[in-house]
Amino acid sequence: MWQGVGAAPGIAIGPAVVVKRSQGEVSSETGAAIDPRREEARLAEAERAVRAEIAALRERTERELGAEQAAIFTAHLLMLEDPALVGEARRLIATEGLSAVTAVKRVVAELSATLAALPDEYLRERAADVRDVGERLLAYLTGTAEQELVLKEPAVVVGTDLTPSQTARLPKDKLLGLASAAGGRTSHVAILARSLGIPAVVGLGEAWISEVRDGDLLVVDGTQGLVLVNPDSAELAAWRKRQAQEKAEKERLAALRSLPAVTSDGRRLELAANIGSPADVEVAKASGAEGVGLLRTEFLYMDRNELPTEDEQFEAYRAVARAFSPQPVIIRTLDVGGDKDIPYLGLKREENPFLGLRAIRFSLARPDIFRTQLRAILRASSYGNVKIMFPMVAALQEVRAARAHLEAVREELTAAGEKVAQRIEVGIMVEVPAAALAADLLASEVDFFSIGSNDLIQYTLAADRHNERVAYLYEPFHPAVLRLIERTISAAHRAGIWAGMCGELAGDPLAAPLLLGLGLDEFSMAASSIPVVKERLRSLSYEEAQGLARVALSLPDAEAVRALLAERRE
Ligand code: PEP
Ligand code: MG
Repeated sequence: MWQGVGAAPGIAIGPAVVVKRSQGEVSSETGAAIDPRREEARLAEAERAVRAEIAALRERTERELGAEQAAIFTAHLLMLEDPALVGEARRLIATEGLSAVTAVKRVVAELSATLAALPDEYLRERAADVRDVGERLLAYLTGTAEQELVLKEPAVVVGTDLTPSQTARLPKDKLLGLASAAGGRTSHVAILARSLGIPAVVGLGEAWISEVRDGDLLVVDGTQGLVLVNPDSAELAAWRKRQAQEKAEKERLAALRSLPAVTSDGRRLELAANIGSPADVEVAKASGAEGVGLLRTEFLYMDRNELPTEDEQFEAYRAVARAFSPQPVIIRTLDVGGDKDIPYLGLKREENPFLGLRAIRFSLARPDIFRTQLRAILRASSYGNVKIMFPMVAALQEVRAARAHLEAVREELTAAGEKVAQRIEVGIMVEVPAAALAADLLASEVDFFSIGSNDLIQYTLAADRHNERVAYLYEPFHPAVLRLIERTISAAHRAGIWAGMCGELAGDPLAAPLLLGLGLDEFSMAASSIPVVKERLRSLSYEEAQGLARVALSLPDAEAVRALLAERRE
């Protein structure tokens, strides 16, 4: 039995299909088994393929984004020609008998380290280009480039570090469950699995993945974060029984679907779903969602080779708006960066991507992409109750700049005779501590807040949400996090606007009484969590929850808060 992090609830039982990791696994094979002539030929072939790949990327980028953006690929082509890269790898194959993979890895590691240590900033930045080109070569050499996964039968997909775009590409109809060596509860793979309603366990560690082979029978318990490889027949029977019990519990909760989320003393709350595309609408509605509290639009940009057009986006947004109308649909503008890379955007590799050009920062730096998205959202607004939300706001200027783009786009559209809703609520995600601390200042310029606890926790505690080694610090009930949440909600209410939460904490039944007591108005979560949170909220009194929240805020640590909440759950 292997313990990881439960990422999406439920029990899956089925054969494993192992996805190869995104970088070459071959590390140091030297000696007799290697034929230098063959390795040189493989390297030459990889070089040719990568040259064609980069040239195509440059051509497309130039066509769609302009020459300036395409220049990075010209630099990558030059890098590929540089004798210090492929030439040096060729020399290592010939003189030291290394495989092509090992030679490229070594050259890339050494060259990028040398460049990174230089005083000149321009040269230092070339280290990232070397790594980028190196990764393309390695992806080709190890056969992992653009690997498409085909499932012949229903299976549990296993990977070292499944990326969001790999996950988005998995064939959903045959996907029973997911298990990965890396990742945490709020990694985007976990989020995707939850919105698809597929049991998932992440953060199982490297040792685990080496134990699993294609075809092994796996039990994935996404609720407890457990994975069992090749259980014996008694174990299997016990797990099948639990799977059946879980199904029955799900059916019981489904009966709550049409009941309102209202506390025993009459406080009405809004329970909405987090979704990634129109494909998620059905599951969301079936779970009783009263709207969409977060449409993560980045998934429309992933799993493809070029930007989605305005019309493509418009159609996706309109489909969701229509499906929920008159209930609200909050469309979040593109949140790229961090762990969400979109290769064709040619984002520069950053040392600290979570602190870099992410989300609204990227949108403001690329008004062409931003305005196309805003046009699509505004056009969809006349088909339902659409609200717009900007991610990762850290400063008032960002809100003002984003709103200025929105207004300009609205004028363009109305001048062209397009229909746009008269009034559209504009809100921000509060997911950077600065925004929570300055919530009073931001509240006067927006219509709502939605607390992004996933990022708020990682930025407050300086603990990467994907890094299992600091997962012990990633703690929603840390007093610092609770104070920021309290501050955000109070500032919203003082300014007469509403406050919701769309981070994973909103879907945690343990947190429900606390968030209710703090005054949260809207809870947006993975569809699969809605029934259990609704059941919990309906069993609580707002007045008592307020008392509980006051006590929780006075406690010295997360452990004490958890104990208090667990006690109230009894
Ligand atoms: C969050 O940070 O809580 C959030 C909802 O946004 P994402 O998980 O997409 O970063
Ligand atoms: Mg976020």
